[in-house]
Amino acid sequence: MQQGYIHIYTGNGKGKTTAAFGLALRAICAGKNVYIGQFVKSMQYSEIRLENLLNKVDISFGSLCIEQLGHGCCLDGVIDKEDIWMAQRGWVHCMKMLQSKKWDVMIFDELTIALSLERLEIDKVVQDLQIRNSSTEIIITGRYAPQKLIDIADIVTDMREIKHYYRKGILSRKGIDC
Ligand code: ATP
Ligand code: MG
Repeated sequence: MQQGYIHIYTGNGKGKTTAAFGLALRAICAGKNVYIGQFVKSMQYSEIRLENLLNKVDISFGSLCIEQLGHGCCLDGVIDKEDIWMAQRGWVHCMKMLQSKKWDVMIFDELTIALSLERLEIDKVVQDLQIRNSSTEIIITGRYAPQKLIDIADIVTDMREIKHYYRKGILSRKGIDC
């Protein structure tokens, strides 16, 4: 059984979620089954349509499952009971998917945001990841990756912002940023 590693794509620069989706495409083309759970997000990002597209191709490709586990991208730091409940339920669900051993690659998009907004307990997440089925490759994305998560990861990439058009007031554009 091949060893699976834990990746983290964090930092303020652009490219965390798209890097994870790029890796997902590569894995699917190599016949691997990929699960993507998106924490916090509920908006219809363009990439969630990939599931429909990819599951129509021939069986030499792996399969893809994308689920949204949040109910909104509230980054104002206000903790809402519903948000906490959704994140916790989402994490329990992800761990069940992990135990099913169906997935070769699992991506937990914006998990670090759920952690930094205190919707999930870091110690619980770290403990669950440490006792996981170790052949599954895990990719975690999002700003503000906590040190305890970095400590157990095998690859950590900091997407450093050198420039971002967001600072010029250019918000998310369909097909490029969302
Ligand atoms: P991508 O999905 O393009 O790979 P990402 O995953 O690296 O990006 P996120 O941290 O998830 O980026 O940010 C998502 C959105 O936040 C972007 O669409 C962008 O418009 C917006 N954004 C970018 N920089 C900032 C900022 N400094 N503060 C708040 N929002 C920002
Ligand atoms: Mg992202």
